[in-house]
Amino acid sequence: MLDRFDPAVDPTFPAVDPARLAAALGAVIPADRLILTPEGMRPYETDALAAYRSLPGAVVLPADAAEVRAALKVARELGVPLVPRGAGTGLSGGALPYPRGILMSFGKLNRILAIDPAARTARVQPGVRNLAISEAAAPFGLFYAPDPSSQLACSIGGNVAENAGGVHCLKYGLTVHNLLSVTLETIEGETLAIGGGEALDTPGFDLLALITGSEGLLGVVTEITVRLTPLPADVRTLLAAFPHTHGAARAVADIIAAGIIPAGLEMMDGLALRAAETYAHAGYPLDAEAILICECDGEPADADDEVARIADLCRAAGASLVRRAADGAERQRLWAGRKGAFPAMGRYAPDYYCMDGTIPRRRLPEVLDGIAALAREHGLAVANVFHAGDGNLHPLILYDASAPGELSRSEKLGGAILELCVGAGGTITGEHGVGREKLNQMCVQFSPAELETFAALKAAFDPAGLLNPGKTIPTLPRCAEYGGMHVHRGASPHGDLPRF
Ligand SMILES: Cc1cc2nc3c(=O)[nH]c(=O)nc-3n(C[C@H](O)[C@H](O)[C@H](O)COP(=O)(O)OP(=O)(O)OC[C@H]3O[C@@H](n4cnc5c(N)ncnc54)[C@H](O)[C@@H]3O)c2cc1C
Repeated sequence: MLDRFDPAVDPTFPAVDPARLAAALGAVIPADRLILTPEGMRPYETDALAAYRSLPGAVVLPADAAEVRAALKVARELGVPLVPRGAGTGLSGGALPYPRGILMSFGKLNRILAIDPAARTARVQPGVRNLAISEAAAPFGLFYAPDPSSQLACSIGGNVAENAGGVHCLKYGLTVHNLLSVTLETIEGETLAIGGGEALDTPGFDLLALITGSEGLLGVVTEITVRLTPLPADVRTLLAAFPHTHGAARAVADIIAAGIIPAGLEMMDGLALRAAETYAHAGYPLDAEAILICECDGEPADADDEVARIADLCRAAGASLVRRAADGAERQRLWAGRKGAFPAMGRYAPDYYCMDGTIPRRRLPEVLDGIAALAREHGLAVANVFHAGDGNLHPLILYDASAPGELSRSEKLGGAILELCVGAGGTITGEHGVGREKLNQMCVQFSPAELETFAALKAAFDPAGLLNPGKTIPTLPRCAEYGGMHVHRGASPHGDLPRF
């Protein structure tokens, strides 16, 4: 059972008198952007990992960088933890408030500052929604490529902090590959301009890559310049259905081995596709045990050629059906099923727990079998909906939080699945981050020396450890207690991967 966040008894940061905190923040943040009542703070008590909840001591909604700096100064001077928060769609508890600490939400820093079509860049504030960037860039024939399924709601600041991915990241890269620069406010009161202009390299250490995916532990991002990509001339979408997940997994490996990089290559297993079909009427064959949705973009002739080669590879891997979307409407339906797959799980169970691990693509068949075996062992169903092209799995564990013990069983199963990924040579997160959720699995993924390096980097930016404490980097005593110190990558902590 993962520990609930209960720093009510955390000796690291003794509670500050609430009246003192309110007075200090009230002196620098206008009353209409400062929330102090429990009922006002309730919407901020969790992110999309809703099993974890705690109330902060104050919520601040800064309207400019000066207010960000002022709130950081209060945190520093009073020794109060501060947690940054974007849209709260994170799935690993990264924006979970520190009890009685400061929660900084970027809802008011939500302006697109400039679009430069000639340089193909957008300069934005951190609270801008991911999709809003593409909407603003569309009149110039451009878009922002990383497209998390949550893109309607999630913020670009949260994307930077999590190094978010999405369906089209196989071809266009993750957030880190589409960033040019960020402005970072540190808890020490410095403003750092990190990254460069349009050049591919910058002098000095690559701090931009370090900040990307740092989960709010190193500083607060107040401005971001992203790369924009020309909208493709045309798009083709293909559905391939298979009688067994192994066939679909083989097709994925064969497509990549053939040197084809589709714009998107997604897989759903039988349980997932049947729920999604009932929910979205996407046109998926209900008798299949796996489907691939594959998208190719570019000049029409190139996209036609690529999609034809992929169709041949799917047939050779045993596809029982290969169908190209006839028009834009059918394409939208195919994607609606994929994008609605998470909520569609409500058909099977009141709750689902979304895992996020990566594996080498060639090990997909055995890892999917391993997940099924673990699911049976823990007595819970698991549906798989994932970015197959980049080996980023999203097993959805189905459970009922109101049934005694099911939440803790689902957490145990989730941990075992992530450790299976590490054993297969993969990682414990592909895009959702570590947050509060995967602290124990960090002990499995990394050696004590590696964890100490992370902690030293954190201390270089935040010596007092006030930014987003209790997340992402486990302490060594915690790892010792978990008993999972450093499994060598490629060697499963659960023994050899099952062979079928
Ligand atoms: C239905 C659903 C589908 C999803 N699909 C995907 C997907 O396809 N790909 C994917 O990558 N993710 C996906 N996610 C997860 C989530 O949307 C992403 O992790 C997203 O990047 C979080 O953005 P946010 O604005 O909601 O950040 P939050 O959840 O508010 O915060 C996330 C982390 O970022 C930090 N943070 C936020 N803003 C800042 C800032 N300005 N400065 C410093 N730190 C900051 C927080 O402290 C926290 O650690 C999905 C989530 C849901 C609910």
